[in-house]
Amino acid sequence: MPAENTSELLKHYEVYETIGSGGFAKVKLGRHLLTGEKVAIKIMVKKDLGDDLARVKIEIEAMKNLSHQHVCRLYHVIETSSKIYMVLEYCPGGELFDYIIAKDRLSEEETRVFFRQIISALAYVHSQGYAHRDLKPENLLIDEDQNLKLIDFGLCAKPKGGLGYELMTCCGSPAYAAPELIQGKAYIGSEADVWSMGVLLYALLCGFLPFDDGNCMVLYRKITRGKYSNPQWLSPASILLLNNMMQVDPKRRLTVRQLLYHPWVMKGYSTPVEWHSKHPLGHIDEDCITEMAVAFKQSRHCTIQLVSEWKYDHTTATYLLLLAKKRQGRPVRLRAECPVLDPTYSPLLDIQLKKNLRFSEDDDGVHPVVLGSMVFPPDCYDDENPWTPLMPKNTHTTNTPRMKHTSETSEKRNELGHSPFIDQGRPRPYKPETRDRMRENKENLAMTSTNGDVFALPPPRTPMCSRKARPNRTEVTTPNNITNTSSDTNKGVGSASKDMSQRRNLDQQQSSQQGELEILAFSPERRSRSLDLAGCKVDSGPKRKGAKVFGSLERGLDKVITMLTPSKKRGPRDGPRKIKAQYNVTLTSQTNADQVLNQILSVLPEKNVDFVQKGYTLKCHTQSDFGKVTTQFELEVCILQKPEVVGIRRQRLKGDAWVYKHLVEDILSTSSI
Ligand code: ADP
Repeated sequence: MPAENTSELLKHYEVYETIGSGGFAKVKLGRHLLTGEKVAIKIMVKKDLGDDLARVKIEIEAMKNLSHQHVCRLYHVIETSSKIYMVLEYCPGGELFDYIIAKDRLSEEETRVFFRQIISALAYVHSQGYAHRDLKPENLLIDEDQNLKLIDFGLCAKPKGGLGYELMTCCGSPAYAAPELIQGKAYIGSEADVWSMGVLLYALLCGFLPFDDGNCMVLYRKITRGKYSNPQWLSPASILLLNNMMQVDPKRRLTVRQLLYHPWVMKGYSTPVEWHSKHPLGHIDEDCITEMAVAFKQSRHCTIQLVSEWKYDHTTATYLLLLAKKRQGRPVRLRAECPVLDPTYSPLLDIQLKKNLRFSEDDDGVHPVVLGSMVFPPDCYDDENPWTPLMPKNTHTTNTPRMKHTSETSEKRNELGHSPFIDQGRPRPYKPETRDRMRENKENLAMTSTNGDVFALPPPRTPMCSRKARPNRTEVTTPNNITNTSSDTNKGVGSASKDMSQRRNLDQQQSSQQGELEILAFSPERRSRSLDLAGCKVDSGPKRKGAKVFGSLERGLDKVITMLTPSKKRGPRDGPRKIKAQYNVTLTSQTNADQVLNQILSVLPEKNVDFVQKGYTLKCHTQSDFGKVTTQFELEVCILQKPEVVGIRRQRLKGDAWVYKHLVEDILSTSSI
C-alpha cells in the first residue's frame, strides 16, 4: 500500500535542495537520519509520469537487482498516493558530462581510468541480463572518490530469453543511439550499448560529439552513415578503438567482453578490467546486523531475517548505508539521538501526524514552506522555478490552487487505489505528447504496439523537448521580510532531543492551527550560502494560501533558527566569494570581479538568457517560444585563491547538456573575459 503522504520519507530523511532534474524526476539531496549519511532522493510525481510510470517500475526493479561498485545503489523506495521516491547513493562529484566540458576534453590517460570503470559497469549490467540503452555522460555520476556510478535505468531492457535476444523499442538519446536503433531494426541491446560507449569515449577524448546536428533527420543520417571526424590529437590507438566500437554493422563491433582486455584499455595496466561485483547482492554483514540489532532492540536472528527480505524499505536503507560507512572505514554506528530510536517516539502519534499534515510539491517544485511562523517561497527549497533567491518570507502569503488540486488528485487516486505498483494490470494507451525519450518500452512492458510507431526515434532530449512549461514569474526585491515571530520556536532550540513527545504535540497543535505545514531543510553546504542572500530579490511568485508546517519541529525549527539568526547579523554579502579552483570554474586573467560581472550581464540579454542576480551569482534560464524553461544554470563570479584572479563558476541544473555547454561557452567568449 502506498503511504498516504510524505511522512514516511520525512520520518527517515532530511530533505535538502534540488541537485538535478531529468526528463522524469527531480533529485534532491537528503540525509538519512539514523546513519547520518547523505543520500540522493529521486522524486517522481505520478500524475506527471503518465505512461512513464512503467519506466519507473522498470528502473526500480533493475536497480534492486544490481549491486556493483560502478552502479549507483538503490537504498529505499517510498511510494505515496501521489509520488514515488527513490533513495539512492549520493554522488557529490556531479555528472561526467560536466567534468568533460569543464576540462574541454580529457587526456587519453584520464579517459582510460574512467573508461575502464564504464566497461566494468556495463560488463556487470550485461552479465545480469540487462542492456542499459541510455548511456551518455549525463548518466554517469562521479562519487566522492572520483569513481563513476551508472544511473538512470529507466530505459533498460532485460529480454526474457537473455541479452542475445533481439529488442525492438527505439529509445535513448539520439546522439548516442546506434544506427540499427534509429533505423528501426531489431537489435541486440548489448551491441547497441557498445555503440553508445563508443560515442561516449569519443566525447571524453574530444569534448564534443561524433554525430551532432540540431536537425534530427540530419543527425540520423550522419549516424546511419557512421562517418565522423578524427581530431588530430587522437592517437592512432584511440582512432582504431573508436572505429571498432562505432561500426555501423553491429556484428563487426567490438563486444564488451573484448573490451575488458583490449590493448587500448590495458595500456599502463597489468590486469584486464575487473567487472565482477565487489558488493554482491545478498551478502549479510555481521557488524551491520549487530549494530542494527542493538539499536532496534531486537535479536540478531530477527534482524538478519528482516534485512534478508530486501524490501527496499527503511531496514534495507539502514543496512546498506551502514555497510557503505563500513566500506569507507568509518564506524558502523547508528545515531542514538535519532527520533526513530527515541523511546518517546510514538508510532500512533506518527499516524496522527500523517493524517494532519501533508508535505506537498507541485510540478513547480515544493510549495511554500512554513516553519513555525516562517514561510519560505518554494524556491528557497527548490531550484525548479527560475530563479528566486533562498529567502524566507512572512507566513501569510502562500499557497496555490494547484496545491489543492494535487491533494484532490491524490485523494481521488487513493480512493481508486491507483498505484503504479498495484494497478499494473492494464497497459496504458500511448500518449505521444507525454514523453520525449521513450515512446514505448516493448521488451519490458510486454505491450503490443498500438500505433505502429515503435521505431520512430523520439526527438532529442534538448531543452525544446523539456516537458514542463514554467510560468513566467516576476522577481520582486523583498530583502526585509525575514521575520521570526514565534517565541515557541526560540524556546525549542537546544531541547530537541529532550522533549520529543511534547514537541510532537506542539507540532500537531501548530499544524491544526495553521493548516498544512511543511518542513524546510537546506543542506549544510547550502545553509551558509542561503545566509548570504539576505537583501536579494525574491520571487513573489503566485501568492499561496494556507501553507502549513509539516511536523517534526525538533528537527526543522532548530534548523531554521540556526539558519536565520546569523543572516540578520551578516546582512548582504559585499564581495564575491573566495573559492578554490574547481573543475567547474573557468579562470580569467582579470582581477576586477565587478568588471567581469558587468561584462557577463551585458551579454546575457543578447543571448536571450533571462536571469536573476543575487550578488555575484546569476541564476540563468532560457525559455522556449511557449514559455517553457529549457535550460537552467548558474554563473557565479568569484575570486580564486591561488592565483588570485577572477573565476566563473558554472553549474547546469536543467536542460540538454550539450546545448548548455555551447551556450555558456558562447556567453563567456562574447563577454571577452
Ligand atoms: P531522469 O530519470 O528524470 O532522467 P536522472 O536519474 O537522470 O533523472 O537524474 C537527473 C539528474 O539528477 C542527474 O542527471 C544528476 O545530475 C542528478 N542525480 C541523479 N541521481 C543522483 C545521485 N545519485 N547523486 C547525485 N545526483 C544525482
